[in-house]
Amino acid sequence: MAVERTLSIIKPDAVAKNVIGKIISRFEDNGLKIAAARMQLLSQSEAEGFYAVHRERPFFGDLVKFMISGPVMIMALEGEDAILKNRALMGATDPRKAEPGTIRADFAESIDANAVHGSDAPETAAVEIAYFFPSLSVYSR
Ligand code: ADP
Ligand code: MG
Repeated sequence: MAVERTLSIIKPDAVAKNVIGKIISRFEDNGLKIAAARMQLLSQSEAEGFYAVHRERPFFGDLVKFMISGPVMIMALEGEDAILKNRALMGATDPRKAEPGTIRADFAESIDANAVHGSDAPETAAVEIAYFFPSLSVYSR
C-alpha cells in the first residue's frame, strides 16, 4: 500500500442535510486526512467539465443540474490506499445497494442524490484533484 490522494465531493443533498461533519468524521476515523478543502457552488461549466466522462450517458443533464443545485464540499483526501478506502467508505453508487454502515447507505436517498463522489482509480484521482486543486501536486505531500 502507498500513501495516495483522492478527490472527494460531499454533494448538495448531503450538504443540505447538514451532515458534512459526520461524513468528514468517517474519513478521519478511517485514517484519511484532508489535504485540501473548499466549499463552493459549482457553475454549470465546472460541473460539466468535472463529469465529462459521463457526457454521453442519459443521466448527464440531470447529474449536472443536481450538482449545481447547492453548494458542495470538495476535498482532497490523503492516506494509505486512499482511493479504494474512500470507495469502500462511500458504498455502492445506488444507496439501496450500498453496504450497511457506508456513507451512501446512511446518508443518501437515491442514485441521483447519493451524498458523495469519490475518484475510482489513480488516473482519475490525479485528473480530478488537478481539476479542483491545481496547485496541489499529486506527487508532493
Ligand atoms: P460513482 O459516483 O459511484 O463513481 P458513476 O461514476 O457511475 O458512480 O456515476 C457518477 C454519478 O452519476 C453517480 O454518483 C450518480 O450521482 C450519477 N448516476 C450514475 N448512474 C446513474 C443512473 N443510472 N441514474 C441516475 N444517476 C446516475
Ligand atoms: Mg465515478
